[in-house]
Amino acid sequence: MTTLLVTHPDCIGHDPGAGHPESPARLSVVLKALEEFHGLARQEAPLGSEADIARVHGKQFFEGVLASVPPTGRAALDPDTILSRGSGQAALRAVGAVTSAVDAVVAGKANNAFCAVRPPGHHTEPDRAMGFCLFNSIAVAARHAQAVCGLERIAIVDFDVHHGNGTQAVAQTDPTLFYASSHQFPLYPGTGAADETGVGNIVNAPLPAGTDGAGFRKAFESRILPALDAFAPDLLLVSAGFDAHRADPLAGLELEEPDFAWVTSRLLEAARRHCQGRLVSVLEGGYDLRALAASAAAHVEVLRRET
Ligand SMILES: [Zn+2]
Repeated sequence: MTTLLVTHPDCIGHDPGAGHPESPARLSVVLKALEEFHGLARQEAPLGSEADIARVHGKQFFEGVLASVPPTGRAALDPDTILSRGSGQAALRAVGAVTSAVDAVVAGKANNAFCAVRPPGHHTEPDRAMGFCLFNSIAVAARHAQAVCGLERIAIVDFDVHHGNGTQAVAQTDPTLFYASSHQFPLYPGTGAADETGVGNIVNAPLPAGTDGAGFRKAFESRILPALDAFAPDLLLVSAGFDAHRADPLAGLELEEPDFAWVTSRLLEAARRHCQGRLVSVLEGGYDLRALAASAAAHVEVLRRET
């Protein structure tokens, strides 16, 4: 039994252009940092299926995103969300990575998994791509776990520095889903206030700029982890963004690598309490290349060591 690393070279082929923070180099540095890890099983991501994506995104939206992919040059879905020739394939691989990781973990082929993919997904709402994201891979994987794997209760915990408005939009009316997020607030995209609670299944822990690891850990210990325990999931999915790191250029939280290791350890403990340790993590943000690589390595090291 082991930790599964799922990725695909196509995820490097999405290129929003020079100077865009969501660069192909992000994935290259993460994979380089994980290259030497022993004891990881490795798997190439399949393409996400239209049937899976359609459980979250309408057919019109799905086809519209793929039809917007330019044969050359770039096309913008919004001022932040830029497509290049490889973007459609990358987004489909990102979805396929997470759904196939769920399949592997539910089948007992791996204890847990990390999906090293881009573009990220947690900002994309059912009918709107935004914030560097094309398809909401983690929301699609949650629906896949229910519809295909037969699981009932799916929890998504998101420690990216930005609020996952898209994932919340999918979860907030459905008591079989749980969404909890720690994020800087106020900050893009503007959602994620503490009083956004869905049908009692949403827990937002907004953190002011300057919050350090102690404040982050307190938010998890006092709010997110107790609510996760109360929900008692059949599967735990993690939106692992590393842009709450103190070196990140896009935000102002002050986390360091040990904080990401700490939260990973707490989430694994919760997964062991409720769902035989079944946890699937997917890369979201993280824009300082050195901090991103080191933080993702700290995250995966805990997944590998504490399976
Ligand atoms: Zn982010």
